[in-house]
Amino acid sequence: MFAARRILFLAILALILTPPLLFAAGPPAPVQHADTASHVVFLGTGAADINRPKTDGCANCTHIREHGGKNARRYSSLFVAPDIVIDFTTTGLESLKASGVAPSAVAHVLITHSHGDHFDPASISALAKEKGGRITLHGNARVVAAMRKHLDALEDKPDVMVHELKPFQGCDVDEWRCIPLPASHAPGEDALLYVLRRKDRALLYATDTSWLPAATFNALKSEHLDLAIVEATFGEIDKPELLTAHMNLPFVRLVRRFLFEQKVMKAGGRFSVTHTSLHWCEPHDILAPKLANEGMILPHDGMRLGL
Ligand SMILES: [Zn+2]
Ligand SMILES: [Zn+2]
Ligand SMILES: [Zn+2]
Repeated sequence: MFAARRILFLAILALILTPPLLFAAGPPAPVQHADTASHVVFLGTGAADINRPKTDGCANCTHIREHGGKNARRYSSLFVAPDIVIDFTTTGLESLKASGVAPSAVAHVLITHSHGDHFDPASISALAKEKGGRITLHGNARVVAAMRKHLDALEDKPDVMVHELKPFQGCDVDEWRCIPLPASHAPGEDALLYVLRRKDRALLYATDTSWLPAATFNALKSEHLDLAIVEATFGEIDKPELLTAHMNLPFVRLVRRFLFEQKVMKAGGRFSVTHTSLHWCEPHDILAPKLANEGMILPHDGMRLGL
């Protein structure tokens, strides 16, 4: 009897003295996005110069280096629930993890164009291996050829399927209807922008591009968007030689006006920028409130938006 009480006493004592491991803080568990509500997560929102603040002495880079947080950006990439990622490169896996999106939730990767800040074949192989399942890669002829070449050279092949896209040729990507539209960006390949439609929801993802081609404006006229995401690489900078392949905010304001005035955006639809250069744009702390006053969202990495 005494022994039993003693054991009970020791057990209670052990419970009291044991650190509360169950409540220990740790990284958030990855969320499986199996819910049916349409939403996107900005996995990355930066341009090709995400590493420049590490060394550059300009005011923007210095602010980013000193304050970090929402000011820092990974390469532009977007998760579209339930299972699509647009663009996936060297910061892709860490972006998924930092944003709480499980790699296993991704089934399709849409690539806009072959530039290294948007597409890296080895990173897509790594995603398929991390997932332990199939990834279908959709992209233009150059992207598909580069992915095939990478896969052909691998001994231990990941489960990656490739599917070539052509401008204006819509296709079903699981639950979403995908319409690739021409960008004005990379001579020598069909750089693509994407309209995605699912049930009564639709979004536009438009990076990388300079002023949109006339055929793209024309195609957009028949869309009804809940969300438009448009690149604003160079912020308020208006150097013509920079704007041959990317947009600045004056361009973006005109695109936004077009979308609302032509009723391409639904009433209450939301307009966001992305692919903002860390060196050329003001940092998030400063620029986000300014753009909010104009009805534009300046996203930060990991930000989720419902549709
Ligand atoms: Zn880019
Ligand atoms: Zn590019
Ligand atoms: Zn700088």
